[in-house]
Amino acid sequence: MAVTDRELRIPDDETPARCPHCGRPFRSERQRALHVGEDHADDCTADQRASYEDAREAEAEDLFVYHLKVVAALVGIYAFFVFAYMAVSLAQAPG
Ligand SMILES: [Zn+2]
Repeated sequence: MAVTDRELRIPDDETPARCPHCGRPFRSERQRALHVGEDHADDCTADQRASYEDAREAEAEDLFVYHLKVVAALVGIYAFFVFAYMAVSLAQAPG
């Protein structure tokens, strides 16, 4: 059963990007392009296929940047604990 616009509570002054095949609204053009490429792969146009590929590439790039940030955060936390451990053990060392 399809979800109606009323249930999605789209603000009156917004005109969301809609899927040309099933009319489903999306927050961004990229999300619509991904939906069209995945859910309507058999009957999408060359343009829609191209924007699907672009959207997939952009998603992969965003995910890569996110992974870099996660790794940087983990390295930062690790360094913090190493320095904290060093500071505490040096402060307690005799002499
Ligand atoms: Zn659709």
